[in-house]
Amino acid sequence: MAAKTIYIAGLGLIGGSLALGIKRGHPDYRVLGYNRSDKSREIALERGIVDEATSDFAAFAPLADVIILCVPIKQTMELIEVLAGLDLKQNVIITDAGSTKLDIVRMAEIHLSPEKVQFVGSHPMAGSHKSGAIAADVNLFENAYYIFTPTALSDSGTIAELKDILSGLHARFIEIDAEEHDRVTSQISHFPHILASSLMEQAAHYADDHEMTRHFAAGGFRDMTRIAESEPGMWTSILLTNRQSVLERISDFKDRLDQVAAYIEQGDELAIWDYFNFGRQARKDMEIHKRGGVDSFYELFVDVPDEEDVILHILELLRGTSLVNIRINEENREDITGILQISFKTAKDLDYAYNKISKETDYPVFTK
Ligand code: NAD
Repeated sequence: MAAKTIYIAGLGLIGGSLALGIKRGHPDYRVLGYNRSDKSREIALERGIVDEATSDFAAFAPLADVIILCVPIKQTMELIEVLAGLDLKQNVIITDAGSTKLDIVRMAEIHLSPEKVQFVGSHPMAGSHKSGAIAADVNLFENAYYIFTPTALSDSGTIAELKDILSGLHARFIEIDAEEHDRVTSQISHFPHILASSLMEQAAHYADDHEMTRHFAAGGFRDMTRIAESEPGMWTSILLTNRQSVLERISDFKDRLDQVAAYIEQGDELAIWDYFNFGRQARKDMEIHKRGGVDSFYELFVDVPDEEDVILHILELLRGTSLVNIRINEENREDITGILQISFKTAKDLDYAYNKISKETDYPVFTK
């Protein structure tokens, strides 16, 4: 296929990472970028994320074969309206990266012309608490689901072309209807963010009267509330563009909480046991234990003794690997397989680490 010109609007975490991935797969492509702030444009140029950058969105749009909108959801919808008024290349492919899909897809179907433009909704399902061009990472989408939501302005050829353009991301492409996308993500992403923040809010207020709450919060509480540290603006937009599904999940959950409260009030031991057992079994059966679940990494557990320089020694052995997180599980030793938990981006690095640590130390090493 001939070299293309790709235009990425929004050189943040997602836009920057997409640009790097596209260049990895197609070094001959020309990648142009738009960003409001000077800083992200400068970083994007310095890091070679884009070949050229502008602060005037309309300036580069007519040059592009493919336009990818990677700004917040509200701005994505505004830019679709702007694009409708520009003289774009015939048959240009336009897509986005927004975390909710139906409002964006509807906006495109209302404003863009099917005779001139192809539009597919996209949601690359990987992220981080970091933001901006500085955080862009060529491996961000590796093995992550990359969702396409077809529209009245796309056909199978549009998605096939996008898959080829985005092949350097090494993502797992999948197609789903925009409405169903928003329903499913309300359950597995949007509602859990509400729960995490509500738990934090509840605990913070409780701690005003029960000071030790702050000190005892550990293990399970930390795992349940990690995502409460996410960027508030992005999550506000997500909830406001997926209201119905999110409200349904909240209402459904209230009923479930009432049910558990009733079991507890009635002292119904069997019902409480069944309730916990169902949750435990359901979690084991879900894809979160396999690679491909949202936000999942390849985890290694090392049961290390409490001795000086042990962790340093292990890190030395892992020099050069794609280590993304390291955690020392000092509390709740009984609910994990090892005390040092190391996360890798790739299965190859996990295998390497497993073999290296097993060979060079006496510590028991486990993977899940
Ligand atoms: P980011 O903060 O890293 O980048 C956002 C970009 O949008 C920046 O370049 C910023 O300059 C630009 N921007 C912000 N407000 C703007 C405005 N009013 N006008 C023009 N440009 C503006 O955020 P991100 O994580 O890259 O998110 C971008 C999109 O990707 C969002 O739609 C988000 O829903 C979606 N998304 C995010 C994640 C995630 O976990 N971060 C995952 C999947 C999809």
